[in-house]
Amino acid sequence: MSSPRAVALVALAALAAGCSSDGGGEAAGPGEPTSSSVPQPSPSVSAAALPLAGKVVVLDPGHQLGNRRHGAEIGAPVDAGGFDKECNTTGTATSSGYPEATFTWRVAEATRRILRRLGARVLLTRSSNSDDEWGPCVDERGRMGNPTEPGPAADLRISIHADGVLADGAVGFHVIRPGELVGWTDDIERPSRRLARVLRDALVAEGFGPATYRGERGIDVRRDLGTLNLSDVPAVMAELGNMRDGDEAAVMESAAGQRRYARAIAAAVRAYLRA
Ligand SMILES: [Zn+2]
Repeated sequence: MSSPRAVALVALAALAAGCSSDGGGEAAGPGEPTSSSVPQPSPSVSAAALPLAGKVVVLDPGHQLGNRRHGAEIGAPVDAGGFDKECNTTGTATSSGYPEATFTWRVAEATRRILRRLGARVLLTRSSNSDDEWGPCVDERGRMGNPTEPGPAADLRISIHADGVLADGAVGFHVIRPGELVGWTDDIERPSRRLARVLRDALVAEGFGPATYRGERGIDVRRDLGTLNLSDVPAVMAELGNMRDGDEAAVMESAAGQRRYARAIAAAVRAYLRA
């Protein structure tokens, strides 16, 4: 049996692990203690003490890399919330050709690493970043984590995207929240507002600027996105930056920049879940 003090110490250790998470390598470095040299708390105690224990988060990294090679498949219409829309699109890229699919995949992976260390269960809407694969379609992405779907019900879903806007001076992120669409989003519109605000604030806290070209103070509202309309759990879509701006693209292509985005998203999950 654990004393309250032992539980508190385990909780502190878990928090410390979370704070030092930067999405980098999982292995201990040469000078760091390994599991064989340090007594470990029992798994049941440590798991329960983690701040996101029992929470389920869906991360939706936009666009499979191979979408660009599967035009017919991704062009097929699917339901996007009472109207049809294309299954998916190719996504954008930086001027040097670094694809949005790869950027969103790397950010999702880095975010997943942080959230898992904090005890969350993380579901990704795609399991690879592969030129040989395509999809899933927006309707499947939009339903993942819903209580009626197979698998665990999610506490929230965050779609991760990047924009490709050619206008001069177009930089910065914006978070898209679902507008009210009766029969579709009226169940999630209010909590998704709060999720959008905490994600906006977390991105600002990591040093990212709100978009100069869309939305209001980093938040936009849309009713035409299947990934938001089909959700029955609080959901937002983050356009993390403009890949066509050279300076922003350099940040988005870098591993350090991707880890900053991941830290912001993970911080938003904690803030939203008050964990
Ligand atoms: Zn996108």
